[in-house]
Amino acid sequence: MTTSHWLKQHSVSTPDAVTDILIIGGGYIGLSTAYWLSEMKPDLKITVLEGKYCGAGASGRNAGFLTKGSVSFYKSLTKSWGTERAQKLYDFAVESLKLAHQHILSSSDITFDSSSSMTLFQTADQLSEWSTSDFDPENFNFFWKNQSQLPEALQRKFHGAFENSPEYKINPVQLLARIRELIESRGVGIIESSMAFEITSSGVNTESQTIKACQVILALNGYLPQFHSQFKAVITPRRAQMLAVEIEAGFDCPSLYYDPPERVYWRKADEKTLLIGGKRLLDEEGEVGDFEKISPVIQKGLEQYLKDQLGLKYKVIKRWSGTMGFTEHELPLVGKINAPLDTFMIGGFSGHGMGLGFHSAKDLAQLVTGNSKESFFNQFKKVDFNL
Ligand SMILES: Cc1cc2nc3c(=O)[nH]c(=O)nc-3n(C[C@H](O)[C@H](O)[C@H](O)COP(=O)(O)OP(=O)(O)OC[C@H]3O[C@@H](n4cnc5c(N)ncnc54)[C@H](O)[C@@H]3O)c2cc1C
Repeated sequence: MTTSHWLKQHSVSTPDAVTDILIIGGGYIGLSTAYWLSEMKPDLKITVLEGKYCGAGASGRNAGFLTKGSVSFYKSLTKSWGTERAQKLYDFAVESLKLAHQHILSSSDITFDSSSSMTLFQTADQLSEWSTSDFDPENFNFFWKNQSQLPEALQRKFHGAFENSPEYKINPVQLLARIRELIESRGVGIIESSMAFEITSSGVNTESQTIKACQVILALNGYLPQFHSQFKAVITPRRAQMLAVEIEAGFDCPSLYYDPPERVYWRKADEKTLLIGGKRLLDEEGEVGDFEKISPVIQKGLEQYLKDQLGLKYKVIKRWSGTMGFTEHELPLVGKINAPLDTFMIGGFSGHGMGLGFHSAKDLAQLVTGNSKESFFNQFKKVDFNL
């Protein structure tokens, strides 16, 4: 979002700034990258540049599932990449949650719940159609819960679920605020309300200044194609819809729930608040784009799910949407790109950014500081862009 000369008062033009590393994008990934870089290189000047405010993108709008992902995600990874690489990704995700717990969650008084995730199956047929001989959920620590082991409220409509733990329920805005607090205490600078639009050999240009930097990191996820057309071929911005409702007390479902065929995920935020997101398939084409918009079709679908599958009576509290960046293989692209300055990218988290994000940011920071030669994600797709 840019602002005009008339809307914003400029008494003097903004002076050019200088930094060692400039991170463009103040979401979970940009802030986490600043966290790791400031830990690895405390003497460097690190600056985060955010077009709106930190958390304005998907990071401040998601469902707060700090999870390794659904069992279906690992089944699909196994099919595409084989068991060994799927297993490596699982271990990477386990480490990501461990690091987030150790460095952020347990180091503060922010509220989070240690819980489990459940990937639900509606019928026995659905499960048998889904099962294959070359994917064993137990290798990924997903264990079957039959109908009678599900919460009572789910037994009427669900046949069973694969459960994985530990997983975390978080308030993403609190999580971001905590990372911000930590990095600011280490001297990381944060510039908000300023959009970057190009990288030149002299620095990064924004609407009102040039920021001179030795190294640049693009942490723009679904906004990468908006920043440069090179990214259009590999990252698709897609909206995701969310709905928060008030429910009656007594709906006793303590985990985080995925229903993959319905593309739905839901969880309770507190005793009387339930969050539900997904139903993208109801208007897949209409959800392509990097601007916020509430989709009536999808919101209706989410409400229908609450009534039909969960048997709930509810009152709508809030509806919203957010932009994710999807890659074809649904894994992020992390690495060095060719640009007029020493530049790296991290983006395309495809709905898994909160789970994989903290470890991915560490992976990138190791690359930027020269502590590693290639990203963990190179074994899936190598980054190759010329800006
Ligand atoms: C509704 C919804 C629910 C989700 N639920 C979950 C979940 O429960 N669990 C999970 O793991 N993942 C979830 N995701 C995905 C997850 O939120 C994202 O993968 C993650 O937040 C990506 O973080 P990011 O920092 O890369 O991107 P973003 O948070 O999008 O950050 C990018 C930032 O860049 C800024 N920006 C854009 N252009 C410019 C520019 N030119 N100059 C400067 N700044 C710019 C934006 O304002 C934005 O703040 C969900 C996503 C959505 C939308």
